Amino acid sequence: MKLDCKHVWEHISEYIDNTVDAKLRREIELHLEHCEICSAILDSTRNILILTGDGRTFELPVGYSKRLHERLKEEMERSEPEPPVGKPK
Ligand SMILES: [Zn+2]
Repeated sequence: MKLDCKHVWEHISEYIDNTVDAKLRREIELHLEHCEICSAILDSTRNILILTGDGRTFELPVGYSKRLHERLKEEMERSEPEPPVGKPK
């Protein structure tokens, strides 16, 4: 099984929270090793979580996380013009 970017994005917050199962976690790590886009997304998502986790959410730009997720959603929709059934590798 090979993860695509979309799949990684769907699970990225669980990945950071450490709530993905070990197998999926490994798949994500493998993907991150060769995908700059997902690595960058992971970095920025992690920064947000560190700030919010510290109780200093007021330091965050308002709507930053929301915008990021909207952006990801747009990318997901745009990156898959064809139906997922019978998708080539
Ligand atoms: Zn990727």
